[in-house]
Amino acid sequence: MRVKALGMVSGGLDSTLATKVLLDLGVEVEGINFSTGFCVTEHTRNFKSDQDRPTRPHEALRLAAELKFKLHIIDISKDYLPVVTDPKFGYGANLNPCIDCRIFMFKRMRKLMDEMGAQFMFTGEVLGQRPMSQHREALKTIETESGLNGLVLRPLSAQLLDPTIPEIKGWVDRSRLLSLVGRSRKPQMELAREKGLENYPQPAGGCCYLTDPQYAAKLQDIFDHKGKNNLTHEDVLLLKVGRHFRVSPRLKVITGRNERENNFLKSYEKGRHVFEILDFPSAHLLAEMMGDPSAEEALLLASIAARYCDAPKGSAVRVVHRHGDRRETLETCAAEEEKLERWRIG
Ligand code: SF4
Repeated sequence: MRVKALGMVSGGLDSTLATKVLLDLGVEVEGINFSTGFCVTEHTRNFKSDQDRPTRPHEALRLAAELKFKLHIIDISKDYLPVVTDPKFGYGANLNPCIDCRIFMFKRMRKLMDEMGAQFMFTGEVLGQRPMSQHREALKTIETESGLNGLVLRPLSAQLLDPTIPEIKGWVDRSRLLSLVGRSRKPQMELAREKGLENYPQPAGGCCYLTDPQYAAKLQDIFDHKGKNNLTHEDVLLLKVGRHFRVSPRLKVITGRNERENNFLKSYEKGRHVFEILDFPSAHLLAEMMGDPSAEEALLLASIAARYCDAPKGSAVRVVHRHGDRRETLETCAAEEEKLERWRIG
């Protein structure tokens, strides 16, 4: 019987190797690529390409095409937010709920295995590589909580772990699996060379915004001021771009850092206050708040916009404040650097 395995495939080095090992053992493989809404490469790809920064390929798709297996890209972002806001097993070094995240994904895998007729699942996890979710105890907890005991094969570290059902039943030859351990990626790079795999993304690059300290600081600010239960997909997206400032408990500001980000922010003006500099090129500024700004707050927001424009230093500039159909023009100089640094988040 030809067995079928469903793999969690990001297209990174580890999942590339795990997939290749199983394909070389004659296992039929289908890949699942989950999109959580917090993926770094996904966001980078969504920015239109320009001459300086070409659009990055979808690594999992690229891998599926190269190794010739079927890949399913599944958007789980809608149901994923509670994993981030209320993780049973807590957070890692930043706001990364890795154990809950894996349990959530593994439960999805369990369902998909049934739907797609797969006998087991596999991942590219390496024992001891990630401090929160890849130590022996965490791997066990994740399996048990997701109802997949014995059905998760980790080809890269399998020889160091208890034999799984596919190994016990002889569907997969345990002696041809690996015993990688720890954080170094050198053995994986060597193995990739041996297997003729050259086209993989550089390992150890951050792939999840939740492990990024700057992103986590901005997310924590939303938890503190808006409330965890009010976190939206739009918040998750906007945290990925621009400079963020918490001016007061009721007033938050986002400005673009380049043309791409300015254009991105323009799509999210609805429901927000917009401040634009007349007469000079400038960053796009969005202000989030309940209700309208006072006259003093409007001037302050205008002064932040003035800081990020090409007007000569110290000169007054005209700033348009827009909200829905309303529009007013203000005049101000740039906000002091010291204040901006105090308000800056992340
Ligand atoms: S790094 Fe992000 S995607 Fe990976 S397990 Fe942790 S929370 Fe999930």
